[in-house]
Amino acid sequence: MVRNQAHGRADELGPRLKAYEGRSAAVAGTGRDPVNAPMIRHWCEAMGDANPAYTGPDAIAPPTMLQAWTMGGLSGHTGRTEALDELLALLDAAGCTAVVATDCEQEYLRPLRPGDEVTFDAVIESVSERKTTKLGTGYFVTTRMDVRVGPELAGTHRFRILKYAPAHRPARPVAARPEVTRPEATRARRPRPVVNRDNAGFWEGAARHQLLIQRCTGCGTLRHPWLPGCNACGCPEWDTVEASGEGTVYSYVVMHHPPFPAFDPPYAVGLIQLAEGVRMVSNVVGVPYDEVRIGLPVRVEFQHYEEEGAGAAGDDPVVLPVFRVTGGEAGRGE
Ligand code: ZN
Repeated sequence: MVRNQAHGRADELGPRLKAYEGRSAAVAGTGRDPVNAPMIRHWCEAMGDANPAYTGPDAIAPPTMLQAWTMGGLSGHTGRTEALDELLALLDAAGCTAVVATDCEQEYLRPLRPGDEVTFDAVIESVSERKTTKLGTGYFVTTRMDVRVGPELAGTHRFRILKYAPAHRPARPVAARPEVTRPEATRARRPRPVVNRDNAGFWEGAARHQLLIQRCTGCGTLRHPWLPGCNACGCPEWDTVEASGEGTVYSYVVMHHPPFPAFDPPYAVGLIQLAEGVRMVSNVVGVPYDEVRIGLPVRVEFQHYEEEGAGAAGDDPVVLPVFRVTGGEAGRGE
């Protein structure tokens, strides 16, 4: 009965959730490390951001690193209160067991520089009315973190999640647990790619069996994954080129753990270097997972995933580019 509250007509849960608005989610948290050059350098390398503002004696930290300075790592955050856990437990108990991060907004008020020591407070800013979305029915929960250096506000970080009762499998919450072995007929759905206005063109191309690479019309630099602007010259204008589909395995990992419901470990995840020069993460197929090697030649193909639930909520089948080994070991079992 409690589980069905999220689906019931009267929203008895709503007022109990609303009572959490304004409660602290973290008080007087402190950054694990001062703002520092090594973390800035790693970030810039990972992002491919060569902006000179982030190096040298007058370096500032990339503003988008704001949250990085507050993260607790595996040992947990400092300053965390019980309020957010209580709120999430209430939602779990009401059947809203699934969660998806929907968006993040940051505001930058003061640059952070190496040596700055950050502190932070977080508040549960809002809990929405009950909403029905394509994913299911639930509530949007927004937390706001204020990041300070001494008394100065350096920036704010708003993070919004949707806690919801999944629309596709409301009657089988246990089946969502990865450790439960399920017969093929009830196999979990392949996760949907996150399609947004910055990358929609890539997925539209995939649906047409075209592998599209973004190209800056300012300087011609190719890029993947898709981004709203060029990291080389800053130009926001772009067009696309269709990749030949030829590539090589630049690197790979074999996934054993943690198990995800839609996948059967072990399996190989490849970083594919396309002939055009950009790299993308994808599955390597055509050889067993333990025969994937750096340098193997591969060619793109497009796999369609049409599963249980597809269509029921207006979902199209997912079309994913995967890479099949073409040389040497090719043609062996999968
Ligand atoms: Zn450019």
